[in-house]
Amino acid sequence: MFAYYLQGVAAYCMYMTHKFLADSMVGDVARNMRMLGHDTEYYPHMTQYDTLQYATTTGRIILTKNQRLLKKGVCTIYATTTHGIMKKIVDTFGIATDIVVSKSRCSICNGEQRDMDGTRRQCILCGKIYWDGTHIEHMRQIAKTWWQSSRV
Ligand SMILES: [Zn+2]
Repeated sequence: MFAYYLQGVAAYCMYMTHKFLADSMVGDVARNMRMLGHDTEYYPHMTQYDTLQYATTTGRIILTKNQRLLKKGVCTIYATTTHGIMKKIVDTFGIATDIVVSKSRCSICNGEQRDMDGTRRQCILCGKIYWDGTHIEHMRQIAKTWWQSSRV
């Protein structure tokens, strides 16, 4: 964790509420984070300037592959790949990589989900229905690598 602090993640960022803003190029990171249950906003058409403004005014941590979003005073997790960003988030904030379906947020709109019938869940904002199936199992295997590879 200390190593990343030295690479530019300011100490106070670690104590911020863990709400995130994925920049317009990393929709896959947003989906991963929502599946892990973290409030992560994503606007595919948001400009670089608006991303910085919005993150600052809402206290969100920027997730990006764009080095130009690294600005003094703005909390940003930067890596050149999606996998790299996920590893750095896990390492910096110590977030769990277990996918707990009952805690996941909607991968489409970031809405919270409510239980429908014990097996299916529905987004309270857009109505998309989710269930714990093979696609979730596949994501669990990928999510394990974010934790394991950040520790070697
Ligand atoms: Zn939704």
